[in-house]
Amino acid sequence: MITKKGIGASPGIAIGPALVLDAEEYRIPRRTVDPAAVPEQLELLEHALQAARDEVVELRTAATRRLGEDGAQIFAFHEAFIVDPTLRENVQRAIRENHYSAAYAFAREMNLRQREFRRLTDPYLRERVRDLYDIERRVLRHILGREREDVTRLTEPVIIVAHDITPSQAVALDREHILAFAVNVGGPTSHMAIIARMRGIPCVVGLGDITSDVSGGETMIVDGRHGIVVVNPDDETIQRYREREHHDRQFARRLDELRSQPAVTQDGTPIHLLANIEFPEEVSYALEVGAEGVGLYRTEFLFMASARLPTEEEQYEAFRDAVRRAEGRPVTIRTIDLGADKLQPGTGSGHDANPVLGLRSIRYCLQNLDLFKIHLRAILRASVEGDVRIMFPMITTLMELRQARATLADVMEDLDEDGIPYRRDIPVGIMIETPAAAMLCRYFAREVDFLSIGTNDLTQYTLAVDRANERVAHLFAPHNPAVVRLIREVVAAGRRAGTSVNVCGEMAGTPLYCELLIGLGLRQLSMAPHNILEIKKIVRSTTIDRCTAIARKVLRFDAERQIANFLRDKLREIDPESL
Ligand code: PEP
Ligand code: MG
Repeated sequence: MITKKGIGASPGIAIGPALVLDAEEYRIPRRTVDPAAVPEQLELLEHALQAARDEVVELRTAATRRLGEDGAQIFAFHEAFIVDPTLRENVQRAIRENHYSAAYAFAREMNLRQREFRRLTDPYLRERVRDLYDIERRVLRHILGREREDVTRLTEPVIIVAHDITPSQAVALDREHILAFAVNVGGPTSHMAIIARMRGIPCVVGLGDITSDVSGGETMIVDGRHGIVVVNPDDETIQRYREREHHDRQFARRLDELRSQPAVTQDGTPIHLLANIEFPEEVSYALEVGAEGVGLYRTEFLFMASARLPTEEEQYEAFRDAVRRAEGRPVTIRTIDLGADKLQPGTGSGHDANPVLGLRSIRYCLQNLDLFKIHLRAILRASVEGDVRIMFPMITTLMELRQARATLADVMEDLDEDGIPYRRDIPVGIMIETPAAAMLCRYFAREVDFLSIGTNDLTQYTLAVDRANERVAHLFAPHNPAVVRLIREVVAAGRRAGTSVNVCGEMAGTPLYCELLIGLGLRQLSMAPHNILEIKKIVRSTTIDRCTAIARKVLRFDAERQIANFLRDKLREIDPESL
């Protein structure tokens, strides 16, 4: 039995046989052909490019159906790459002039292009090299006349083990027979992780060398919530996970009964639960489980799903889609938060030695005003479709907020000139994600309509712990007394200024922290849609007095371990299952 710890990228437990996905690393020897065979090789190339394009179009259609337009963007890049005339001409020239075989000429051209991509300093574009491998394998398969990967035609449920899973595989794989993914590389923001979450497939990434521990057919356990994979588990371990799986399923079924119930404490105080979304399609599920709207729309995913910057029209359509799906409920559109662990197009943070402290988020937007203005224009245009709010991320100084607002005013003027309608009194808020913003919150509170505490970054910057670094992950604690005090400050500042405050970091969707946050005075929490029912259950099991007493006690502790133990004990009293 081998137990490996990776990064949980999509929650859920799966137990089943492993299927190792062949990396399909074609090694193409340098081969020349007889000059008489050149036309045949050219024809082979033409046929392969056409067949690869047909496949990609098919995948794009399937992806649009399963994931919506945004999820299908990846394949638009593949298609554009395959039909690019310079690609075809370069390969044709190599066949004609050097008499290379079609396979070698194509592999050589792709190799050159991959090398160019790998040399790029911009991490966003560098990441695209994986799409190039995907395209190369697809075309070579047709040139070499090999069978299409039969993973799309699985006949029994399997756990897919792979060095990497390309976005096209993640979409093409037949959901019915995929139990889970266990992957050597990647992080939770990789495209495949996003797709796994959207398709509800448990997934662990960053496992290092799981492919060398598994040859296929072994029984495996994947625990996508905790990032754990067990190969050849003993009977006792299987039993334990089966029980947990059963328990999780029953728990989910019981939670389902809460879908239409209000999130109200036992003493009658409503707690407004909102959804964090990455793609517009997620709004519908969020509403089904009772979200009162969208508290955080991470618009940067629209930029990450595409190889080029999305146009104003594409952005507008995505925002309008989300707003329409919300049917009049509030949709808080956060302006793009690119940089740090979220890859960034164009120039910028790719050159920073410390990207987390570098040109990211609002800083990036304020230095790239053309891009920022197009983005704001798309948001404003969508504002007439419903209750849209704008939120600026990573605001650290008042000057940044004022610059962002001035840019918004400029864009409004442009829209006026063009006679395009928008909501002039659109509410504007900021995220409180840095200790500086939290400490100066009373000044910010006077200038905005709402404040949203981003506890992921607030914890990262307060404790100086990189949230994406697994080596310091044990130090990442939103319940650290310093973070808790900053949250209290923000709530107090908001109350004094009459400005609403909510939390939209992961803390808001974590059962352990629910009563503490309510006790600190929060009445609005925004979280991943799949956390809503669990949090609703806790809300309905507690009272404001109880939460206030919990917060008061927590504020007396000086160490995070005491706080965690205390909160665990308290949660056990009302909802032991969620532990
Ligand atoms: C946060 O930092 O808490 C937050 C909600 O923003 P993100 O996780 O997108 O950085
Ligand atoms: Mg953040």
